[in-house]
Amino acid sequence: MNNQQFQTPIEYLKGVGLSRADVLKKELQIYNFEDLLKHFPYKYIDRTRFYKVREIQPDMPYVQVLARLTQKEIIGEKRTKRLIAQAHDDTGTIELVWFQGIKWVEKMLVPGKVYVLFGKPGFFNNKAQMAHPEMELYIPGAQQKGNLTLQPAYNSTEKLKQFTLDSKGLQKLIAGLLEQTAKDIHENLPDYIRNRYKLAGRQESYRNIHFPNDANQLNEARYRLKFEELFFLQLKLLRNKLLRTQKFKGNIFESVGDYFNEFYHHKLPFALTNSQKRVLKEIRLDTQRGVQMNRLLQGDVGSGKTVVALMSMLIAIDNGFQTCIMAPTEILANQHYQTIKSLVGEGFIEVALLTGSVPNKARKVIHQKLEDGTLNILIGTHALIEDKVQYKNLGLVVIDEQHRFGVEQRAKLWRKNIIPPHILVMTATPIPRTLAMTMYGDLDISVIDELPAGRKPIQTVHFYEAQRLRMFGFMKDEIAKGRQIYVVYPLIKESEKLDLKNLMDGTEIMSREFPLPKYRISIVHGKLKPAEKEFEMQRFVKGETQIMVATTVIEVGVNIPNASVMIVENAERFGLSQLHQLRGRVGRGAEQSFCILMSNEKLSHDGRIRLNTMVKTNNGFEIAEIDMQLRGPGNIEGTQQSGVLDLKVADLTTDQEILQQARNLVIEIFEKDPQLAAPENQILNLAFQAKNAGLSWDKIS
Ligand code: ADP
Ligand code: MG
Repeated sequence: MNNQQFQTPIEYLKGVGLSRADVLKKELQIYNFEDLLKHFPYKYIDRTRFYKVREIQPDMPYVQVLARLTQKEIIGEKRTKRLIAQAHDDTGTIELVWFQGIKWVEKMLVPGKVYVLFGKPGFFNNKAQMAHPEMELYIPGAQQKGNLTLQPAYNSTEKLKQFTLDSKGLQKLIAGLLEQTAKDIHENLPDYIRNRYKLAGRQESYRNIHFPNDANQLNEARYRLKFEELFFLQLKLLRNKLLRTQKFKGNIFESVGDYFNEFYHHKLPFALTNSQKRVLKEIRLDTQRGVQMNRLLQGDVGSGKTVVALMSMLIAIDNGFQTCIMAPTEILANQHYQTIKSLVGEGFIEVALLTGSVPNKARKVIHQKLEDGTLNILIGTHALIEDKVQYKNLGLVVIDEQHRFGVEQRAKLWRKNIIPPHILVMTATPIPRTLAMTMYGDLDISVIDELPAGRKPIQTVHFYEAQRLRMFGFMKDEIAKGRQIYVVYPLIKESEKLDLKNLMDGTEIMSREFPLPKYRISIVHGKLKPAEKEFEMQRFVKGETQIMVATTVIEVGVNIPNASVMIVENAERFGLSQLHQLRGRVGRGAEQSFCILMSNEKLSHDGRIRLNTMVKTNNGFEIAEIDMQLRGPGNIEGTQQSGVLDLKVADLTTDQEILQQARNLVIEIFEKDPQLAAPENQILNLAFQAKNAGLSWDKIS
């Protein structure tokens, strides 16, 4: 809000006072007038019309019905005692039920009269039902108290209700606040934007989102406020990006040279996919402009991000720069090292692995080669950004599995040179587009959205406990064919003991079913010491064991092509993105791979959707969308510091189109007027400054 008045502490609002202010702050984080105005209704109760009994569906919100009462009776004893009444219109009968206040209600009901019923309908034995409806006698021609509007319903809490701040109480406060301040809610979008997107005025939108006269008004108000919210968030993100590109010059990779060409024409063992080519082009363009690249590379597991990273690094090397890859764990760093060594072969470029376990002597050699510039690619974990590590001329940093590296760690890398290196962040956790535009709105985003040709899609099935024997049989067949199998048990922090027990019980069952000496099993869980874990993993990697029983510690990045079956126990306890990550451990070799999701017979609504989704699709982006629909953007990993959670009215699961419009508009505005200096953008400049007061470059990044 671009006016001091809206920052007034909430205790000063008429009807609030100190004790109510206290609960408003604690329960709803409402500190001032603005916060309260932005406590939008979470739904509206439709009193604009009467529904017919036959129109009533399960899952409907509150509805209003006009019906004639035919009978009433009190049945049951003591705790099962209830009042049941029947009412009908010309389309059917609805049953009304009361469990409380029975005596009093019973006296009020007069069979034969027509009532306005209002409540949340349900179904019982295929019959429409309403528990504890609000009722009033219908008087034809007279205006009903329910007065035909959309009534706002506000989130409240038990605690707030003790202070008479239930939905109705909040409604009263907000109505008062609007009356007092609406005239000071100033427009913050210029006319040319409002006209182009047909946006309602700001003041009327605040009024109408709280107290709409009809659905149309409500839609217009919502659209306007969502647009405004997303627009200013994008304005901030893209402005940060603009500032960053102004502040940081970038190394220029002028030409593609011998290293790249030699690799491309003589070493690359396969043809690149179109997606891989497109992303390489994007990176190529980025690194020619003299501006620091900050690019996020999203691609499903197995989509071939490593090769793209390697080829980008070769371009850097062609231009006389060094490069490095940071991985979140030693195992993954090691894997990258092996992969890259085998892709480039001997005597081509200098590649080294630097992890915590590299002995001092070898470490010294690496440091030396970094400083004199002979080392081309350094691969490792955070050890790469220790201050001791000095590069001669670091030109490109690849960060794998970005979730584990914070912004601060990234910034640390930038300081190693005067011109910061280009940054390519790779993530195998696809996130929905809307989330990407918001979480990484200040980065450029590349997407690899196809798998290399000839991959056999992983076949996924969902088995119940009753099918366990079938699963064992299947496992034996696959092992007989020489394949290896993962069996994964859930690991949830709150009940680590229980999970370990699950794992141990599971292992025992597996050991009985797959006895020595014919079968060998590796066991990996969080309680093992790193060395023990490594030993067990290695046995599996080398093919000495056929089955690896594990908790989710194997989730990230492990690549064992011969492992072609993933079994997830208690699959209903895993989140969608976790299941997708786990499944991505298989399907890496030439063989047909399988994923078996084991679950209890009893599944929650969401649990069933998760498992069905996994069976239905292998597409990580599709899965990410559904994950967001189920859990909401706020619960997706990584959203915490992204501004997603500050959204009060826009919803990233449904407002994709508005977000895209807003972002495009911001891009267009900055292209023409990066300083927001044009007269028609004055109003934007002011609003932006007011919103981001006190935000300096240091705080952004
Ligand atoms: P991720 O994106 O999960 O990091 P990787 O880069 O590890 O995927 O690639 C997975 C596997 O696919 C590797 O064995 C890699 O060599 C192979 N690969 C990558 N690109 C292609 C391609 N265009 N055609 C065939 N195989 C490819
Ligand atoms: Mg990878």
